[in-house]
Amino acid sequence: HPQLRTLVQTASFHAEHRPTTPAVLCEGRTLTYGQLHSGSNRIAHALRAAGLRPGDRVAYLGKESEHYYEVLFGCAKSGTVLVPVNWRLAAPEVGHVLQDSGARLLFLETEFGPTVERMPSAPPETIVALDDGFSAWKASHPETDLDTESDTEPDARPDTDPPPHVTPDTPAAQLYTSGTTGLPKGVVLAHRSFFAIRDALASEGLDWIDWRTGDIALIGIPGFHVGGLWWATQNFNAGTTVVAMRAFDAREAVGLIRDLGITTACVVPAMLRMMLSEPGVGAEDFTTLRKVVYGGSPISEALLEESLTVVNCEFAQIYGLTETGNTAVCLPPAAHVPGSSLMQAAGRPYPGVRAKVIDAEGRELPPGAVGEVCLATPAHMVEYWGLPEKTAEVLVDGWVHTGDAGYIDEDGYVVIRDRIKDAILVAGENVYPAEIENVLEGHPGVAEAVVVGAPDARWGEYVHAFVVPAPEHRPTPRDLHTFLVPQLAGFKLPARYELIDSVPRNPSGKILRRELRDRFWSASARKVN
Ligand code: ATP
Repeated sequence: HPQLRTLVQTASFHAEHRPTTPAVLCEGRTLTYGQLHSGSNRIAHALRAAGLRPGDRVAYLGKESEHYYEVLFGCAKSGTVLVPVNWRLAAPEVGHVLQDSGARLLFLETEFGPTVERMPSAPPETIVALDDGFSAWKASHPETDLDTESDTEPDARPDTDPPPHVTPDTPAAQLYTSGTTGLPKGVVLAHRSFFAIRDALASEGLDWIDWRTGDIALIGIPGFHVGGLWWATQNFNAGTTVVAMRAFDAREAVGLIRDLGITTACVVPAMLRMMLSEPGVGAEDFTTLRKVVYGGSPISEALLEESLTVVNCEFAQIYGLTETGNTAVCLPPAAHVPGSSLMQAAGRPYPGVRAKVIDAEGRELPPGAVGEVCLATPAHMVEYWGLPEKTAEVLVDGWVHTGDAGYIDEDGYVVIRDRIKDAILVAGENVYPAEIENVLEGHPGVAEAVVVGAPDARWGEYVHAFVVPAPEHRPTPRDLHTFLVPQLAGFKLPARYELIDSVPRNPSGKILRRELRDRFWSASARKVN
């Protein structure tokens, strides 16, 4: 529906055209498009009655549920900005998000009440419980639309707030980066971020998701992350049905796909791995799936090939950041041919998106040369909230500097090596962990591998490999080394191998390398002292 430009329009359009179609299914409950519209209207009125003005921040701390999406649209219609809080955060981290955003109102699931009580900082002035009182709170407000289209200035009655004027440039959400590389920053996304890529595709007559009436989409990535929020909004824009899990669970996900006849899914590679390693799971569980969109972190070729075989449907990879409004680059299904070198790429920029690679001095590099990947996309963030200098560093003339190391090949495919900060410097050579992990994961005794840099007196850093053994395997360092030698340059070879039970990850599936790496660096700091 290319005529849709804001989430406000999305809600009213589908309420008119498919009021009884489920928008969200969660734990057996259904929220139709009609209910999503009327519920979010009530929320918008209630927010205004609570004194919130357009541009104010509204935080949400709770697991996935239909309420979350009702609140998303309620905020959109009131012109306020939704700040979803990752419920896995500890009290001081939640405190940081609430304080940094300046949220004036918090939607809170009772389960997380104790977290809010333990915060060192003061909570927002108004807290709305999402459990028992929520329906009553909504019901006391009208279900009529707010007039968000007109841009009338405050009228003759100074005591009346002007109606929110919502355009594609109005901020809609403020998402905190996961903090794998530093203190979480608030990334402000306007409505445009949730529409721009679809507009670009529609204008070219392309649409790789190929939304169909009756599609049922699984949200694997939580909605407080850009990937989950993007996927949910793309489905709402298309008028399809979203299936939300309170929190991702591999067994439950497979059951939902099978029992509800789910047709599309958006997951991170770690979720694919967990689903495929569930006992008894096989091709028969995935027969209704026709498209799986994955991204958020690199995928190993071994996992990708296994997924293609077992799940047997179309796969599309997406690459992007919170700062680029999620995906800017896509590897379409046709490129998913096992053994093809294209499977190492994250994909090509969408129509209307440009990619370039620069060196440390900001000079553009030729095809094949590794440097920092930069993306110019119409879906890019407005700013980092309250951090103008950081914004100016990352968003330069419309180009988002991704912090990812990679290159662009002759055909325009973007290949991501790794986070620049995760590169390991061995005797002056950059070693990118993902490359080594990918090769290690091709060993039959390896379920998962993570490599980090550890201090080395002679070479600066050495490569330390953590290996989660495959069930019933216990590979020795010699086995692994013999396997890697013919495949990797000498300076990339791990000097140590260590078996571990599991890899520490954040909820969006990103490896918490810092946790593994810090051990070595604090030890060396002690040695120096
Ligand atoms: P922080 O910046 O605080 O660490 P974050 O970067 O983890 O937070 P996101 O914006 O969700 O938060 O993650 C974007 C990053 O995820 C990219 O910069 C890239 O490193 C990685 N990424 C996303 N998609 C892919 C992909 N398809 N292949 C490889 N890496 C990916």
